Amino acid sequence: MAKDSLDESLKLEQINKVAKNVILFIGDGLGISTITASRILKGQKMGNPGEETVLEFEKFPNVALSKVYGSDKMVPDSAATASALMCGEKTNWYLVGTRDPVAISDCVASKAENMKMTCILDHFQAEGRSTGVVTTARVTHATPASAYAHTPNRDWEGDYQTAGIPGDCKDIAYQLIYDNSDINVVLGGGRRSFLPNSTVDPETNTVDKRQRRDGHDLIQIWKDIQTTKGRSHEYVWNKGQFDNINPANTDYLLGLFGPSHMQYSLDRDSSSAGEPTLAELTEKAINILKKNDKGYFMMVEGARIDHAHHDSLAKHALEETLALEAAVKKAVDMTSIQDTLIIFTSDHSHVFNIGGYTQRGNPIFGIAEPQSDEPPLDGLPYTVLGYGNGPNRVLNGTRVNLTNVNTAAKDYTPESAIPLAYETHAGEDVGIYARGPMAHLIQGVKEQHYVAHVMQYAACVGDYRFDCKRKEINAAGQLVPSVLTIFLSICLKFMSSI
Ligand SMILES: [Zn+2]
Repeated sequence: MAKDSLDESLKLEQINKVAKNVILFIGDGLGISTITASRILKGQKMGNPGEETVLEFEKFPNVALSKVYGSDKMVPDSAATASALMCGEKTNWYLVGTRDPVAISDCVASKAENMKMTCILDHFQAEGRSTGVVTTARVTHATPASAYAHTPNRDWEGDYQTAGIPGDCKDIAYQLIYDNSDINVVLGGGRRSFLPNSTVDPETNTVDKRQRRDGHDLIQIWKDIQTTKGRSHEYVWNKGQFDNINPANTDYLLGLFGPSHMQYSLDRDSSSAGEPTLAELTEKAINILKKNDKGYFMMVEGARIDHAHHDSLAKHALEETLALEAAVKKAVDMTSIQDTLIIFTSDHSHVFNIGGYTQRGNPIFGIAEPQSDEPPLDGLPYTVLGYGNGPNRVLNGTRVNLTNVNTAAKDYTPESAIPLAYETHAGEDVGIYARGPMAHLIQGVKEQHYVAHVMQYAACVGDYRFDCKRKEINAAGQLVPSVLTIFLSICLKFMSSI
């Protein structure tokens, strides 16, 4: 293992390469403590103590820390942070692809000149390169929305939420279909914001109150747009339909699995009526996107790590992390380190911790044993995993006795210190892991929005489109002098000869 890592680090020839493809993995709410606990869980599932396990993205040669604060918040939300990651500047809580002079929900101000950010997906499309957005959340949720939408309120996912707002801001689902039909692959949940409320959902046979009131069947409109543009396209909403998609003859794919978010991995219906895994979504997306000789940008979000933590569902949070890791493995196996920059990071952390002087190999969902070094003052056992805030069972200052409680149950919620109905994000740095061309730029302690600039620079797009000398490197790895370089060298020779 050590030698492999060394070999990987020594692939310095990547420094002079242009990233044909960029894949950005975002673990929503994936702090370092969650990564450590997931690593231990993975090892323990293989019958090992666990701590020694190496996750797929931990094999990447370059790592940095990311400072996640927003323009207005020490502890941010996913809209501001995902906008920073993909659009290259910090912004305010709840803003999606919108600059920070705009206040939350101020639709009128968001339409002022220069308030919309231009993001990495736009830059790739401007170059004729393919794009994809893959998530386990609703495709209109804050993180995926930040790839393509612009709104002063992340909650405006459908017209249910924008009704009556002054300024006529379009909801996120509307923007995805009408403004972003050039995205090749969109996969995730969130069907309800695309269906008119005059139709029943095909899976639930019910009408959700959040279905559209404006009469627009956005799924049909997406199909009509693709047909008008003469593109091969498919829409799917369950695993059976998804499995039948042949990437070779499908250039545009819209998959909306579920009225809201996709299911937790541990709850997933894996039948043809159910849902694909995140790894399966990633594999199909790459097989469609890679057909473009100019390359592609794809964002893949493991969204439900965050949702699980908010409900203190630690086991779900760790399993969702491993589902995201499986998607990373798929991407690593399907791409070349020579032409594909893969960045794995998180938008923010959670107040989740691994505590006690726990023994090596102690079950990660178990009781922290032994407790002789630092016994609990109330004499009651406590779990290895805990939360700084969130739901807890403390009554009149007394904790529940966990003896004989199955703390490894799927829906067990470890205790928290501060009782809140809903556990919160945390403000400490998160990790950035990278492999491929320009991955060496991922080092040190960086502002979160630096990631967007590395992606642009690596791929020679956006701000760095005309500042990309690496484009002049020929197949043999030699610098091909530009006309300007030749002119300057002649001038220098002339000057040195007089
Ligand atoms: Zn959250």
